[in-house]
Amino acid sequence: MAADCRTFTKMIPAFLNDSLRIRELSAFLAHIETCPACREELAMQYLLYEGLQRVESGKTLDLKKDLEDLIAQAGKRLSARQLLLQAAMGTEIITIGLVIILTYVIFTA
Ligand SMILES: [Zn+2]
Repeated sequence: MAADCRTFTKMIPAFLNDSLRIRELSAFLAHIETCPACREELAMQYLLYEGLQRVESGKTLDLKKDLEDLIAQAGKRLSARQLLLQAAMGTEIITIGLVIILTYVIFTA
């Protein structure tokens, strides 16, 4: 197993708990996308994690489909968070611009 894979397999529980940070989640999803070994490991851990809850609640588990959904949802959450971050940075840039304009106006008046 590659060193990279070891890092990513360690992130799986945090991924399932949705407690990865944006940058981690982004790297994780990109890796899972291209690495069958880690995807398989994710499927295993997902089965244990989600399977037990499903058994208790009496719902069935379609492992492959549910895992795909989970990954797709994580991707959507990631883009939403990145958009928010960009929006926040955009606001910051506008604020800085306003401050510069105000400073200019005040000092040249
Ligand atoms: Zn891997």
